[in-house]
Amino acid sequence: MKIPELDNGNLLPLAEAFYTIQGEGFNTGKAAYFIRLGGCDVGCNWCDAKETWNPGLYPPVEVDKIVADAIVHPAKSIVITGGEPLNYPLDILCTKLKNKGMEIFLETSGSSQLSGSFDWICLSPKKKKPPVDEIYELASELKIIIEEEIDFVWAEENRKRVKPGCLLYLQPEWSRSKEMMEKIVEYVKANPCWNISLQTHKYMNIP
Ligand code: SF4
Repeated sequence: MKIPELDNGNLLPLAEAFYTIQGEGFNTGKAAYFIRLGGCDVGCNWCDAKETWNPGLYPPVEVDKIVADAIVHPAKSIVITGGEPLNYPLDILCTKLKNKGMEIFLETSGSSQLSGSFDWICLSPKKKKPPVDEIYELASELKIIIEEEIDFVWAEENRKRVKPGCLLYLQPEWSRSKEMMEKIVEYVKANPCWNISLQTHKYMNIP
């Protein structure tokens, strides 16, 4: 998709960028630089990044500047997240990060077509705007947020669509984790193809 005002991806609406520890999923515990792009049209009621939804709040930033700020940190891992980062063309950002020797992890709902190339794709499908078909076979990791019991059905529907070897995670929605944790534990004990992911950064009080 051509987005002239973003110069086809030479500019991106940056909500924030920071160096921290990845708290969720397969790469939990790894130091990484987070690039959070503004704008999401999925609308999860429990979203913990609602401030990113309106891309108009985040003036486009030159990708060269985003990359220059990213590469000064000791860790060479980058997490591209949002908002929904695939609302934008990510090819130029990924190419420039790769040219600097960075490994790139994507966090996405998969609701838009993939652009860019990644070392790891965490697909976290949302019922309000399900993933495009093509992204299922590209996912390295499937992460389903469990807010209520019906979400286990959603998890299985999505599991059937990813490629063999894709890692499978169930993650309690933060505000419902007390109610759902026991059910998730029992579910994973009964269905051991799944693993549990926790938002460990929230326990560590880091961004
Ligand atoms: S897809 Fe992610 S950023 Fe968008 S509303 Fe849902 S949780 Fe929030």
